[in-house]
Order: sequence, then structure tokens, then C-alpha cells
Amino acid sequence: MTLIRFKASQEQDVDLSRTYDAVVVGSGAAGGMAAHVLTSQGMKVLLLEAGKKLPIEQELRSMEWPYDHPRRGDAPPGSHAIRYNEYNVRQPPYATKSAFKHVFSYVGGWGGGDYVKNILVDEKDHPYTGTRYAWVRARLLGGKTNIWGRLALRLSDYDFKGKTHDGYGEDWPIAYADLAPYYDKVDLYLGISGHKENLPHLPDSLFQRPNKLTAPEVKLRKTLATMGRTLTPYRAGVTTDGVKHNKYRSKCFGRGACGRRPGGCDIHAAFDSPTGLIYPAMDTGNLTLRTNSIAHEVLVDPNTGKARGISFVDAVNHRTYEAKARVVILAASTLESARLLLLSKSRQHPNGIGNSSGHVGHNFCEHVMGPGVTGLVKEMVGAPPTLDDGKPGGFYVARFRNLQDKQSGFIRGYGFEGGSGFSIFPGNAWDTPGFGGQFKKSVREHAGAFINMGGFGEVLPRYENYMDLDPEVKDSWGIPVLRFHYQFSDNEKKMCEDMATAGREMFEAAGVEVVGVDKNILTEGWSIHELGTARMGTDPKTSVLNQFQQSHDVKNLFVVDGSSHVSASCQNPTWTIMALAWRSCEHLADEFKRGNL
Ligand SMILES: Cc1cc2nc3c(=O)[nH]c(=O)nc-3n(C[C@H](O)[C@H](O)[C@H](O)COP(=O)(O)OP(=O)(O)OC[C@H]3O[C@@H](n4cnc5c(N)ncnc54)[C@H](O)[C@@H]3O)c2cc1C
Ligand code: SF4
Repeated sequence: MTLIRFKASQEQDVDLSRTYDAVVVGSGAAGGMAAHVLTSQGMKVLLLEAGKKLPIEQELRSMEWPYDHPRRGDAPPGSHAIRYNEYNVRQPPYATKSAFKHVFSYVGGWGGGDYVKNILVDEKDHPYTGTRYAWVRARLLGGKTNIWGRLALRLSDYDFKGKTHDGYGEDWPIAYADLAPYYDKVDLYLGISGHKENLPHLPDSLFQRPNKLTAPEVKLRKTLATMGRTLTPYRAGVTTDGVKHNKYRSKCFGRGACGRRPGGCDIHAAFDSPTGLIYPAMDTGNLTLRTNSIAHEVLVDPNTGKARGISFVDAVNHRTYEAKARVVILAASTLESARLLLLSKSRQHPNGIGNSSGHVGHNFCEHVMGPGVTGLVKEMVGAPPTLDDGKPGGFYVARFRNLQDKQSGFIRGYGFEGGSGFSIFPGNAWDTPGFGGQFKKSVREHAGAFINMGGFGEVLPRYENYMDLDPEVKDSWGIPVLRFHYQFSDNEKKMCEDMATAGREMFEAAGVEVVGVDKNILTEGWSIHELGTARMGTDPKTSVLNQFQQSHDVKNLFVVDGSSHVSASCQNPTWTIMALAWRSCEHLADEFKRGNL
């Protein structure tokens, strides 16, 4: 089958002598959404992206079989992906003294390093310091959305009003009802697959066709229902029915790379920011894109203290340029946006722009993961092979702790992501004893009989978990890097103990033989769900942004990525990042038209 590829028809030339209505920094989920909403409101927008624009289909090669690749997907010699033990035994910066030519985060070691070697940053060029942290970054047009896992979940008032529920932390300055219409818009514009469950703590989306559960998953779903818990098909930010208004995307063919690679979908059924948001925004004629543009300072008008643009370094020629705009929107991702705010020191903003509260970089939160359970479904042993990894995901078990009940030892909750069935390579081969014909027979017979799931838990936001600028270390472009001061607390550790116990109980209740329980907590950062470094709030003394992700200090400065989140919830954040960005940018455009910015 031949796929027709479209190029954005109205690419604009960059004109740095001009003052744009808005400059957006970063082109991932948040920046792409800002570009989409603002250009559709008629604003002239310049989008600055630090990374390059890759011919992404040539990178992802979703249809390539392992045996068609010279190294079965491995990255070229001289490349290294940081391992779990390295993250824990050593201190960042992890790559500085490495003998390898290129060093990538752990995602580069997920059975397909060659497919992400140009997508993940080379840690040698992008060091960071401080406490141990597994920081996964993708510097290219579209950012991490090129390879994200696509689990697309909504938050509920258990999250937005967490303090009201259990007394910890701060409530968000918005409620679910404020965001629900924007979640709907994101669902309809981008497409999401899933199954309605009517859960107050995991609100439904406007779903397209769901993934089919496998037989073991159906069995577990039935058992969990008797326990008052919900296993639902993976809610995937994937269009399974197609999005007719977008010529750059195709509907999911269910043909596999989702379950076989570090991520990425070269027919763009899975949402990515370039095809989902940026190319359509370019087609309005209102968007100008400049890649290889590393923002390092928000420029300030010395008379008004307002933002007047962005100073950036060209990633290739290392020269510095200025982009002028009436409104500045940061969307460089949670940690990079905080870094940029801290880097932007001026007479009016001596602690960094937007940081009169001293909260920029603080209250960092994310998800804790590691504990999980593997089970054997005996009646599936010897079953004929079926295509189980040719779909955008397996299943999700919604949070069930600390909703109506109150656990001793920890507050908040966790969900499980899981899957089962046959996959392109039978993972059970690694643990199957023996060799020769008997070994192969045993591997084949058991290949589709395993089910596993792993927890994702809410990490509490705490002021003392923070990032600042390292006074000495700089990246390859001479820009000071982030220094981490961050570790899990007892709440996360107790929650993880419970994850392992509860996982086992659920499998046992379903009659699944438990063959492995993992109790290890993965390194801080592993979830790739970093949040909270410039939180929203009503009090400018304890928050950085208002409910529209607008700086309390500088009214024409907005930060529309996960840095604004007040708490992490246990649900994956990207759908919420985009719903919030849509809401804020609609407000921004209204205020801009009224001359209020
Ligand atoms: C392997 C993987 C699996 C994931 N799975 C899920 C999942 O299942 N569900 C989920 O919800 N989330 C998942 N995520 C997380 C998800 O990708 C992020 O939440 C989302 O991409 C965040 O969007 P963002 O725009 O804030 O950041 P990004 O997507 O990272 O985009 C930020 C952009 O800003 C650019 N940038 C950074 N600094 C600068 C600068 N100084 N100047 C100019 N540009 C800059 C970057 O190059 C990048 O393009 C996953 C991520 C990965 C890597
Ligand atoms: S299963 Fe669907 S979403 Fe996943 S890579 Fe294949 S076509 Fe894309």
C-alpha cells in the first residue's frame, strides 16, 4: 500500500526583524497545542524549536522486521543507553566520563536503539547535575510526542481538589468542570481510543473504537469488577476511526510497532505534535517555524518589565539571535521551561522571570514506578498464536486506593498499565530453562500465556524537591544546566509496597499463577512524567502562574506545559497538558484581542 504524504502547504519564512503576535518555545504536546489554538484565532505566531526537523518516517520505520535490520534494531557501535544500575550507583552527569561516543537515556536500550538514536538527546551534549535522576529528553520537532506511549487519561476532581479530599498540598485553581470542555476538544481534534466506564475518578473521553482485550485480560477484568476495581482497554491517544479533518494522519492499522519498539507510529495514527497540530497550524498561513533554535532567555522590556521576546542560540552555527513578540509562551517541557525562567534574570526579575514567589523549580512531582507482577494463565498454555502486540496498548487498571477508603501508610493512589499475549519476540524465552528442541517447544507453548502489569503512583509535590541552575556546568551551547535536588519520600515508598501486594492479590483472585513480583522502585524520573516546577494557584506568594497558566508577575508571559500542574495525580499527563494549553491559549487570544496583554 502506498501512503500519500502531504507537506504543510503554507510554510512561512522566518523574519527576525518583525514583531510577532506571539512566540512559542518548544514544539511538543504543549507548544504544538499553543500553535494550533493561537493560529486558529488569527494570531501570527513564531514557533522556536531547539531540535531539528527529522524525516521522521525514515527514523521510525514502523514496518521494519527485526531480521531486515543489520543489528536487529540496535544502535550503531559506540552508542550506549544508560542502565538502571548506572543511574543508581553513579551521580549525574552520567555521560561526561563515558568511553562511549554517544550516550542516551535508558529509553535508548528498549529493543530498538537505532530507531531513537536521532530522537533522544545525546547525554554528552546535555548534562545535568545533582541527585540521581533518569531524565529522558527528545530534542526535535514534536519533542517527546514522537515516541510517547500514548496512554491518554483525564484527571478528575480527586486530583484537582486533592487537598480538599485528604488535606495534603494545594488544590488546583480549576475544577474538572472547567477543563472538561477542553478535554472534549482535544479528544475530537486528535482522536482517542477507549471504552466508557463511568468512573468518577477516571472520567471518560469521547472515545473512538477501543482496543480488543485478550482472553487473560477479559478474565482479569471480570475478577476485578467483583472487587469494585476497573480494568479497561488501554486509553490510547491514537485515532482508530481516523480524523477526517487532518490530511497528515491515518487511522490505526493495528500493525504493530506500538508494542514492538520504543514508540513512534510512522503513519501518525498515534498522536504526534507535528502531524496532529503543527502542520495543520502552518496551513492557516499564520505559523512560522524555526528549528535548531535553543531559547536561553526571555527578554524583558526595561521600562515595563514585560516580556518582549526570546534570545536564542542557533544549534548549528552557535550564534545568538533575538525573536520579538508581544506575548511569550513557554512550552519547552516542565524541566526546560523552569530552566528558562531561572536563566532569564534581569533588573526587574533578579531571581528569574516570573519567580517573585521563589517557587520556580520547586514542588516538582511525577510518577513513581517499578513494582509490578507477572502471571501465567494456565489455560492459555499451548493456545494457537494470535496477533496481540499489533495494537496501541494493552490495558489500564484505574486507581482504587484512597477514594472512598483511607489506606494506612500513604495518601493518594496509583494505577496499573499492563498487557498480555503473544509478542514479536517471546520474552519468556529469557527465563525458560534448558536448550534445544525441548526448550523451543516450551517457549512456544508458553509464549502467549503470560500477563503482566506495573504500577504508576502519584509522587507528592514538596517544596524541598526542586531544581536550580548549576553554577558551573554548562551544556554544549554554553547554557547553564539544571541541578536536581529531588528524591522520593516515605509516601511513595509505602505506596510502592502496596502496589506489589495489591498486584499479587488481584492476579491470585483471578486464578492467575503469580510467577514474579517486582518490588524495586525505579530511579527518580523514570516515568517521564515530570510536572509542577511553575505551579498554578490563586496566591502569587506560593504559586507562579494563575489558572490560565499566565505569570502572576508578567502578564504577557505564559507557561503552558506540565510545569503548571499543582499535583501529579497518578494518571499520565499529556492529555491534560494539551487540554490546559487549549484553555489558556483561548483565554490568551481573547485578552490579546482586547489589548489586555
Ligand atoms: C517513551 C515515552 C513514553 C511516554 N508515554 C507517555 C504516555 O503513555 N502517556 C503520557 O501521557 N505521556 C507519556 N510520555 C510523556 C509525554 O511525551 C510528555 O508528557 C509530553 O510530550 C510533554 O509535552 P511537552 O510539550 O511538555 O514536552 P516535549 O514533548 O518534550 O516537548 C518540548 C519541546 O521543547 C523543545 N525545547 C526544549 N528546550 C527548549 C529550548 N530551550 N528552546 C527551544 N525549544 C526547546 C524540545 O526540543 C521539545 O521539542 C512519554 C514520554 C516518552 C519519552
Ligand atoms: S498499532 Fe496503530 S498506532 Fe501503533 S504503530 Fe501501529 S498503526 Fe500506529
